[in-house]
Amino acid sequence: VSDTGPVITALLGELTITIGDTEAVVEGPPAPGEGIELPPDPEVLRAWARTDTSGRYRPLPGARTLRGGWRVRFTSLDAMAAGLDAIYPLAQLHLAQWEDGCLEVVGLDEVLRRQSGRYDGSAALSEAGRELAVDLLCRATCVKAPAWHGDQPAGAAIPCPEPCSVLVSLCREAVAWERDRPEPVPPRPEVPFAAFEEPGNELREAYLARMERRT
Ligand code: SF4
Repeated sequence: VSDTGPVITALLGELTITIGDTEAVVEGPPAPGEGIELPPDPEVLRAWARTDTSGRYRPLPGARTLRGGWRVRFTSLDAMAAGLDAIYPLAQLHLAQWEDGCLEVVGLDEVLRRQSGRYDGSAALSEAGRELAVDLLCRATCVKAPAWHGDQPAGAAIPCPEPCSVLVSLCREAVAWERDRPEPVPPRPEVPFAAFEEPGNELREAYLARMERRT
């Protein structure tokens, strides 16, 4: 790292950040092997974070599916901030706003009510269904803490101010599951992350299994 050793180490989502006297190093999740060095270019990092280990598109930047075994070195804090923003968009802004007590949050009810077109009707999801969606997607799968739900970001968690489109999409699909519960099938990791309508989607099957247990 630097001649005098690391000065600050911090965690942000799945990233470990070490800031030394002469450079800052950002590392992805641990993985077996030597690992690779990525260039400190936000475009490269954005593209790198777009897919997971199996090459699946990552529609949720906060999903705990970042590829592991890589690091990137930055020679300035501004460059590091741009790199972090490429991987976790707006995370640093939301953290700063949270710490200053000025993060503006919008609740799920409001977001679901303002949906139209394809997502119209998602507000019909029951309270229990909403809780289940938050539990499975936000709390179990995302590095962000749903501050809009009252959750406190702890450790490496990033405060989330507003339900995202992936959560809205899960709620929309769950309305149909509450009306007419599909038969669960074994999860298939190759199914796209947010293809909730497709049997075998991991979140869909986890949701259906939890619905089963509730009855
Ligand atoms: S709404 Fe939930 S899943 Fe979406 S970004 Fe926020 S915490 Fe993550």
